[in-house]
Amino acid sequence: MLDHTTLDRLRATPVAEGRHLIDGQWVGASDGARMEVISPLDGQVLTTIAAGTDADAQAACAAARRAFDDGRWSGLAPAARKAVLLRWAALIEAEAEALAVLGVRDNGTEIGMALKAEPLSAAATIRYYAEAADKHYGQIAPTAPGTLGLVHAEPVGVVAAIVPWNFPLMIGAWKLGPALAAGCTVVVKPPETASLTLLRIAELAQTAGLPDGVLNVVTGAGSVVGEALSLSQKVDVVTFTGSGPVGRRLMQNAGASNLKRVYLELGGKSPNIVFADAPDLDEAAKVSAAGIFRNSGQVCVAGSRILVERGIHDAFVEKLAAQARATVVGDPLDPATQAGAVNSARQLQQNLTFVEEAREQGRTVIGGNRIREETGGYFMEPTIVTGVDPADRLAQEEVFGPVVAVIPFDTEDEAIAIANGTDYGLAAAVWTSDLSRAHRMVARIRAGVVHVNTYGGADLTVPLGGVGQSGNGHDKSLHALDKFLNLKTAWIKL
Ligand code: NAD
Repeated sequence: MLDHTTLDRLRATPVAEGRHLIDGQWVGASDGARMEVISPLDGQVLTTIAAGTDADAQAACAAARRAFDDGRWSGLAPAARKAVLLRWAALIEAEAEALAVLGVRDNGTEIGMALKAEPLSAAATIRYYAEAADKHYGQIAPTAPGTLGLVHAEPVGVVAAIVPWNFPLMIGAWKLGPALAAGCTVVVKPPETASLTLLRIAELAQTAGLPDGVLNVVTGAGSVVGEALSLSQKVDVVTFTGSGPVGRRLMQNAGASNLKRVYLELGGKSPNIVFADAPDLDEAAKVSAAGIFRNSGQVCVAGSRILVERGIHDAFVEKLAAQARATVVGDPLDPATQAGAVNSARQLQQNLTFVEEAREQGRTVIGGNRIREETGGYFMEPTIVTGVDPADRLAQEEVFGPVVAVIPFDTEDEAIAIANGTDYGLAAAVWTSDLSRAHRMVARIRAGVVHVNTYGGADLTVPLGGVGQSGNGHDKSLHALDKFLNLKTAWIKL
């Protein structure tokens, strides 16, 4: 854990202006436009970044296309790609503290989580896929005698990686690691409100020896830069984490351009189901609280609906409320803080609007207010809303804030019906001592991951992906490589 002296020094470090990385060169926007970066810690301008134009995005796509087509990366021995990526991971790890603090000043995540979940997780992810680069084999098909069927796995080409602000390094690395290990070239579009750390790790990639044009970064508005990437004829794959409406737009743009592959990791309204036979209700309350309140609820897999068996409902809500009250919301650069700042004024307003609506519907709200307003930053109390109807907007739509809806249920079937009763299907949890019930629930809940007697923490070895309107495709694990590989058959008469 970082000490106060280091944190204070890093907090006071001036932040350089951001520029794009295109074809190995650091450049401003083609029209010179810049965009302010507002720190959620105090509402003040932290620095500016290049406000990318359509022309900037086109230039980056062209650079990535050239870098792919001439084989400067895809044509290397996989072990050579591995060596560069391992150097990159080591550089990120060596600079983890500075990267974590820079990221916190940009997006507001509490430092304890940011250090682990951002630079250290990104370094581990890049290392994992680097190691996979020379351990990934093609196949020989079981054909009839006299023929030989070889299945080659080739890099798919140019990848556009569009990243959200909640964990830009972790989620960015989930895309960059497998794409680069597979031999693809990449254009990254960082989120408007959290670009700085992605720019810095791109600089470290240059130091590690990644050839020019293999990794390009274009900052700016999603509606300009992201739009241009998704319409580009030069891009073969879009890999995206973010909101549903943007995901839809990307699919439309793929259809309107070159039918590029589009992989979406979208939001969730994940059910966290607590049965009366949960092995330890105190533990369930503690982990469930962390599962929605850490990073101010800005976690795609956050357990934002807690379904509680009616017999233990009141007792559980009491325990959950105690956990909410005990959660330290504060300066994200204080190691004691457990929930930092909400990312932006817009996100804070969205959170408060959901709570206001619930109040107007007569639901019971514990917490629900903006706090620490005197800092100029965007902070919100951990908030519990009880008496929520499964049809309420709060039970159907993603808040992406520290707001949890509590819904009682009577039977296993009813719990399943409520759990599966949204358009989403990203994550879920079941708390029970009954092994058979745990397996039944895992089978019946529509989600990409079902936790049992825990919430969150699924590591890099397992895939993360949604069903329904939570998306398609998977980040993490060796399965993520499939998104960036094409299968090519060689059919040979012997
Ligand atoms: P967002 O969709 O607004 O933005 C995500 C990215 O898309 C940003 O880089 C943005 O600039 C870009 N973008 C915006 N408009 C675009 C357009 N027209 N074309 C192309 N790109 C565009 O989402 P956000 O507010 O940054 O992130 C929050 C959302 O992300 C939440 O809904 C959350 O659930 C989701 N999320 C999902 C996961 C997951 O793994 N499933 C992880 C984190 C966040």
